[in-house]
Amino acid sequence: MAKKIQAVRGMRDILPDQTPLWQFVENTVRRVFQSYAYREIRTPIPEMTELFKRSIGEVTDIVEKEMYTFEDRNGDSLTLRPEGTAGCVRACMENGLLHNQVQRLWYLGPMFRHERPQKGRYRQFQQIGLETYGMSGPDIDLEVILVTARLWRELGIPGLELQINTLGTPEERKAYRSRLVDYLQAHRDELDDDSLRRLESNPLRILDSKNPDMASLIAGAPSLMDDLGEESRAHFEVITRGLKAAGVEYVVNTRLVRGLDYYSRTVFEWITDLLGAQGTVCAGGRYDGLVEQLGGRATPAIGFGMGVDRVVAVLEELDQQNSDGDPHAYLVLAGEQVQGPGMVLAESLRNALPG
Ligand code: ATP
Ligand code: MG
Repeated sequence: MAKKIQAVRGMRDILPDQTPLWQFVENTVRRVFQSYAYREIRTPIPEMTELFKRSIGEVTDIVEKEMYTFEDRNGDSLTLRPEGTAGCVRACMENGLLHNQVQRLWYLGPMFRHERPQKGRYRQFQQIGLETYGMSGPDIDLEVILVTARLWRELGIPGLELQINTLGTPEERKAYRSRLVDYLQAHRDELDDDSLRRLESNPLRILDSKNPDMASLIAGAPSLMDDLGEESRAHFEVITRGLKAAGVEYVVNTRLVRGLDYYSRTVFEWITDLLGAQGTVCAGGRYDGLVEQLGGRATPAIGFGMGVDRVVAVLEELDQQNSDGDPHAYLVLAGEQVQGPGMVLAESLRNALPG
C-alpha cells in the first residue's frame, strides 16, 4: 500500500482555530512597528546559498547542519532562508537603500532550519524581524529594545526577562578572545566535542553552549566587560540608563554572545520560562560589520528576530482569551421577508466596527 502522505516533519499546519491568535500577534506587531515609523520589506524565501555562508558564517550550527540547500534546474545552489537579516541586507544593498540614509525596516515570514523538532522548535517557523541601518549611536539600540518591550505590553505578555550584554568593538573582542582561549585551553579536558571544534574557529560561541555539563566551566570564564574601552562602556551605559528611565527591567548577562565577527556592542534576548528549553522568544543585536562583510560600504546596523511560534505558544500558555476570531454579534432573521433588511442591518453593524 502506498505510504500515507503527511506534512514534512517539523513543519506544521496552523488550523483555523489557531489562526486568530497568529493574526492578533501579526496585527499588534504591525501597529506597534508603524508607531515607530518602521516600514515593511518583503524579500524572496530562497537566496543564493553563498549569501548565508558569507553572512552567518561557515562555522555555525545554521550553516554547518541546518540549512535547506538544493540545486535549482540551472545548477545554482539555493537555500531556503534560515533567518531574515542576510536577505534584508542583500535587498537593501541591491536597491541602494543604505547609502547616505537611515532605514527602519521590518518583515515577517517563514524561515527554515533542519533542527530536531520539539515544542517551540520547528523546521519551518515564522519570524518577525526588525532591522535598522545607518545609525551608530546608542539611542537606536535603546529604541529597538523599547519597541520589543512595548510589543509585550500590547500583546499582554508579562514576565519575560530581558537579558542584555555588550560585545564591545571587534578589537576589544579580540583581546577578550585570547584571554578566553587561554582559560578554555587550561580546561581542555572539560570541553565537549562541539566546544573543542570551536576552540580554534569560534571560541566565543562556546559561551553559548546549551550543554549542562559545560555550565560551571562557562560560569567561571573571564568576562568581556573587563576588556571594554571608554566608548563601548559609555554606549552600553546610555542603554541601561534609558531602560531604567523607561521602567524596563533587565539583567546584564555577560555570557550572552553572538559568536560572529560582524557583531558589535549591544546584544539582547527576551526569555520566557513557560516553554522549557526553547525559552528565547526574541533575540537581537548590533551588527555594524555585516554590510561591509557582504561587500558594501560600512554601515551601522541593529535589529532583532522574534519567533512567532514561541510568542503564540506563550500566549496559549497564558491562556490568553483573544476574541479576534469570534463573532461580534448574532443576528436572528425570522422569515424570508426580513432577509433583505437583515443583510442591510448586518452591513451597518460592520460599518460601525472600530478600525
Ligand atoms: P535557539 O537558541 O533557540 O536555537 P537561535 O539563537 O538559533 O535560537 P535566532 O537565530 O536568534 O535563534 O532566531 C531568532 C528567534 O527565532 C529565536 O529567538 C526564536 O524565538 C526563533 N527561532 C529560532 N529557531 C527556531 C525554530 N527552529 N523554531 C521556532 N522558532 C525558532
Ligand atoms: Mg538555533
